[in-house]
Amino acid sequence: KRKKDKVVKDKKKDVKKQLYPRPLTSFAQLRTRYGISRRLAENIQEQGYKLPTEVQLGALPLLLGKPGSKEQNGTIEDAKSSSGAEYGGDIDLLTVAPTGSGKTIAFLIPIIDALLAHNKDTDGKDGPRAIILAPTRELASQIVNEARKLAKGTAIKATLMRKGMQVVTRSGDELSPDALDASESEADDSDSDEQEPTKRKKTQRKQAELVKAAILVATPLALLNTLKRKDSTVAHLPTVRRLVLDEADVLLDPLFREQTLAIWNACSNPLLRVGLWSATMGSNIEPLTLDTLNTRWITLSPS
Ligand code: ADP
Ligand code: MG
Repeated sequence: KRKKDKVVKDKKKDVKKQLYPRPLTSFAQLRTRYGISRRLAENIQEQGYKLPTEVQLGALPLLLGKPGSKEQNGTIEDAKSSSGAEYGGDIDLLTVAPTGSGKTIAFLIPIIDALLAHNKDTDGKDGPRAIILAPTRELASQIVNEARKLAKGTAIKATLMRKGMQVVTRSGDELSPDALDASESEADDSDSDEQEPTKRKKTQRKQAELVKAAILVATPLALLNTLKRKDSTVAHLPTVRRLVLDEADVLLDPLFREQTLAIWNACSNPLLRVGLWSATMGSNIEPLTLDTLNTRWITLSPS
């Protein structure tokens, strides 16, 4: 019986070895080992960070990993290791790491890298390719700034979702008049609207401004307002391949949960990949990661 136990253990180890890339030791390895574009590498270097933080060491190889590379030995746990799924950037990922640990560029770098790898994905005219949700407008605005620094000199644009903006809800389609009406009629009773009344009126009178950026950063309510149609169905976002929930514990708490999940559901692309980033592994998150996501997850919290 003992022998049998040992065999099982060894097998587990093997699975881990196959699945987990070696953590980074420097930002330069993003180019040498994972082949990120020169421009992106330069933009990272320009930030002046000496070393990747722990969460960046762990998450970047998982999200950037190219199939076939034989990286090993991460500090990573797999929720479904027995599935034998290959990593290679094309995964859902839950990352739990403390506030201030550098999660923002850890999710932005792989998104920008992936968009740059497919020429047509740098363009957001048919609809956003990546959506990043954040619980406050201030945080969303900081994420946009980080994204712009990292995408400097490339064709990739990042936009903060504002009132009066409209997203393309179906690839190549004209705007749906329904969706436009819905966003206008809701402009007045939104409780997350931080604009002054006079400014708000101005926005309302203007024609909806179309989001043309590949990366769209938004609070759940701001985005959902533009997706809701008159009949209260939610328009689809088939062009979105990557959805990030930043501060996922907050986005999935009762205050935001319904809106967040409505947007998640609106992302109808079958190849959608979701990233949840949080400082805590709250009870909001756990059932989702086990049931909904084909996930692996990493925990870098000090607990
Ligand atoms: P989190 O989202 O995990 O709370 P942030 O992404 O907001 O953390 O990053 C916190 C701060 O750390 C930011 O000012 C960011 O510019 C900085 N930072 C990110 N990565 C590094 C790094 N590798 N070395 C030093 N500082 C970093
Ligand atoms: Mg953060």
